[in-house]
Amino acid sequence: MPNKGAPLGPVRILLVEDSPEDAELLSDQLLEAGLQASFERVDSEVALRRVLADWTPDIVLSDLSMPGFSGYQALQILRELHPRVPFIFVSGTMGEETAVEALHKGANDYIIKHQTVRLPSAVARAIRESRSEVERQRVEDELMRAQRLESLALLAAGLSHDLRNILQPLLIVPDLIRDRSDDPKIIRLADVIAECGRRGHEMVESMLSFVRGSRQPSERIVLQRLFQAVGMLLKSSLPRNVDLQLEVADDRMAIEANYTELQQVLLNLALNAIQAMPDGGRLSLVADRAGSESGGQVRIRVSDQGVGMDQATLDRLFSPFFTTKANGTGLGLVSCHRIVDSIGGQIKVSSTLGEGTCFDLLLPLQEAALGDGEDEQPLVRPGRGERLLVVDDEATRLSLLGNALSSQGYRMRLASDGAVAMRHLQEAGLPDVVLVDSGIPLLSAGQLLAEMQAMGYRGPAIVLEDSHAPAFADGQTPAGISVHVLPKPLEMQRVFRAVADALGVD
Ligand code: ADP
Ligand code: MG
Repeated sequence: MPNKGAPLGPVRILLVEDSPEDAELLSDQLLEAGLQASFERVDSEVALRRVLADWTPDIVLSDLSMPGFSGYQALQILRELHPRVPFIFVSGTMGEETAVEALHKGANDYIIKHQTVRLPSAVARAIRESRSEVERQRVEDELMRAQRLESLALLAAGLSHDLRNILQPLLIVPDLIRDRSDDPKIIRLADVIAECGRRGHEMVESMLSFVRGSRQPSERIVLQRLFQAVGMLLKSSLPRNVDLQLEVADDRMAIEANYTELQQVLLNLALNAIQAMPDGGRLSLVADRAGSESGGQVRIRVSDQGVGMDQATLDRLFSPFFTTKANGTGLGLVSCHRIVDSIGGQIKVSSTLGEGTCFDLLLPLQEAALGDGEDEQPLVRPGRGERLLVVDDEATRLSLLGNALSSQGYRMRLASDGAVAMRHLQEAGLPDVVLVDSGIPLLSAGQLLAEMQAMGYRGPAIVLEDSHAPAFADGQTPAGISVHVLPKPLEMQRVFRAVADALGVD
């Protein structure tokens, strides 16, 4: 073996050498020394560039001077195209000065022709060193990426708790507004707020699940409805000089995906498009069937008349943290890519500088039956003075729940923790339904229910639960009380329905 250490395995060697005889001599020597090598030979700049364009050798061995081409030029070209590939000069004419200059210019070693005993071990050593450098760099990159993800995860986890609480009113208030007003304009505004709240909540969830690496549940999405929602969200932030066009070729087209994630894809693309049109123009979102023979695909085309992109930008478009904007995150397209990938779709981009950009999403199609009434929600019967005890330590949610349920016709008792709840129970007796947050302080939800059971309570309990933290550990649910779990974030209509269901009326 040419050198100590782990076997090198097969190596690819590029010879820059004008004499075929010299090249053969070199290769024979390396093979005889036991290297498992394959060779390519070039002797001009054009040939070198052509070979390096689609082939990365493990090492380059180069003559110093050839007719019309020099080893220094070869070295420069190699450094430009493959900076990490080792380079050794093998020359018949190398004096000490030339050798020093060669090393100075970035060669890894030099060997005098016809005195080549040293060649095999020099080659093996250079390849080993360069491989371990590449590996070190890869590990470092991987570590950096993991660190970024980890800090993102920490940030996301820290933010999500606060964000959930801050966003909660956005889900509940619109229902209260709708109850109190017939003005269609106000109701429309309430819809916008509710949609933002839902989106905010789901984004928090999907941010968390992204950093934790779990998948979001899929549902069937009718594109017509998705486009309406996207339109509603965009309209509120659309600059005056941008004209928005939304078009769905067929209102039955549907796809299977997570609603919020897909909406996020369209919003990311649309926002990029708006940002690319500082002087205004048309932003269009068009959904139609992709070419008939490709069968079963939807194409969603998001196009703008903005600044466009050069090749360098196009090449790095989907790299994490790549941005050309002063306050960009460079994560928008990364997440688009991840989401589209996860539903078995593709993203195609075309762009012309100064003219605009077009993103095509190709997604698997699902035909939707029309008029199946999937969105119709049966009306929930209002309360008839039934007594409700609500226990929640989140003050805003507690007061909103109190307000909403009392406007629904229930008699409310509100408690901010287990101790206050116990006091209410002792003073006012047992309620018809108890609604309790899983995270209340002083007395856990399970303990409170057990206390109530001991007081003779046999009614239903509704437990508000965080999606990632089950309300009850095994065996903790008190017997004799039927527990309905309601996942947070809360939507008022679901709370009303849960209460009505718990009371056994429809
Ligand atoms: P960010 O918007 O935070 O920069 P993205 O991942 O959304 O991150 O986009 C990355 C980069 O891609 C942008 O900074 C921009 O240079 C380029 N880009 C994306 N969409 C467009 C577009 N429609 N027109 C021009 N450039 C775009
Ligand atoms: Mg963006």
